[in-house]
Amino acid sequence: MPATVIVGAQWGDEGKGKIVDLLAQDSDLVCRYQGGPNAGHTIVVGEETYKIRAVPSGIIRGKPSAIGAGCVIDPAVLFAELDDLEARGHRTAGLVFVSGNAHLIMPWHVALDGARERKLGNLQIGTTRRGIGPAYADKATRIGIRVQDVLDPKILRAKIELAIAEKNVWLERVYGLEPFDPAEVVATYEGYAVRLRPYVADTSLLVDRALREGKRVLFEGAQGTLLDLDHGTYPFVTSSSPIAAGAAVSFGIGPNRIDEVLGVSKAYVTRVGEGPFPSEIEGPAQERVRELGGEFGTVTGRERRCGWLDLVALRYAVRLNGMTSLALTKLDVLSTFAELPVCVRYRLPDGSETEEFPAHQSDFHHCRPVFETLQGWEEELEGPALPEAALGYVRFVGGALGVPVTLVGTGQARDAVLALS
Ligand code: GDP
Repeated sequence: MPATVIVGAQWGDEGKGKIVDLLAQDSDLVCRYQGGPNAGHTIVVGEETYKIRAVPSGIIRGKPSAIGAGCVIDPAVLFAELDDLEARGHRTAGLVFVSGNAHLIMPWHVALDGARERKLGNLQIGTTRRGIGPAYADKATRIGIRVQDVLDPKILRAKIELAIAEKNVWLERVYGLEPFDPAEVVATYEGYAVRLRPYVADTSLLVDRALREGKRVLFEGAQGTLLDLDHGTYPFVTSSSPIAAGAAVSFGIGPNRIDEVLGVSKAYVTRVGEGPFPSEIEGPAQERVRELGGEFGTVTGRERRCGWLDLVALRYAVRLNGMTSLALTKLDVLSTFAELPVCVRYRLPDGSETEEFPAHQSDFHHCRPVFETLQGWEEELEGPALPEAALGYVRFVGGALGVPVTLVGTGQARDAVLALS
């Protein structure tokens, strides 16, 4: 189908990078629609491992790759990534397009992100401290600095001076940190302008034209559905919209231009940082899943919390995204378990049970998982067909959600994916 959104169906780290990499082969344009350099998709190609933060993963397949208006960009991180890609033989010039409307992460955003988290202590959100939340906050406050601002030195200077006057007060008076020197920041960002200029593009027009010409456009989100700013488990969320509709907003196209929404979910669940997590595994099995799945943050190295598959949360993801199919990744990680609990309902504090994700935060915080135990397969997932019990697990998930599971991840390698009909 011409326009497909690939969306994380859980709390991020679902293995979207690998699925995007797979679908990018048959795409003409790959578009990243939200988030900043906190994403960290991992793509393994033979001996090479790519950990991509800013540029859409399509670049590994040599596909034109666009970064939409809904993203925030740290130029230093972007340039380092472009350099790394070039050094490994991937051309980026003429293939990477950056929306002039995307916002820039400024040094005070990084400083404030860290200072705020430190001050929150036990109540911290668990951000990656890369300035992403503060950059989105400034976008909403209308004092953000956009990619296109660096192209005009006068505008750049005026905007930096305006923002810095306020930020320095916060940094000094609230957090006791050193202020930034406007002249220094202007000089740094003027330097970035030279490098950024050739990449700046009208990404709305780019996508519109591609779709009119019948080309296949793939949209990739970062993070996942339950981290959505509006519909996720606020405040333990990201500061943008990972849900599929975010793709249309970020690229300035109508929602009716999107044909397919492919959700990506692990065969279990992980969550980074704080917040409620009903299906979190109790006992040593959690550590076992973490080790088998290599569940440590791509960017931060932090341990991910691990849970059994949560169909209540996944059903919510189907609804929020208008999901038309599902990719179930990392099924191989469950291969050594004799029994596999799957969370099918939540028991609410009043004793009632529901299959629907609670609309009220207190219900979600205090609900308990109701598990159904499925049979494990206890053999490796090799070859072109899944063992009977593994297929049973996959069919159970698809049936409960009313969405076909079309892809199954059976290993870390690029080609360890089975297509199901
Ligand atoms: P993303 O941000 O959604 O792309 O997720 P990450 O890249 O942070 O995490 C996914 C991790 O799982 C990466 O290390 C992938 O190489 C790995 N991975 C992806 N699919 C599979 C799979 O089917 N099986 C296994 N064992 N690992 C996988």
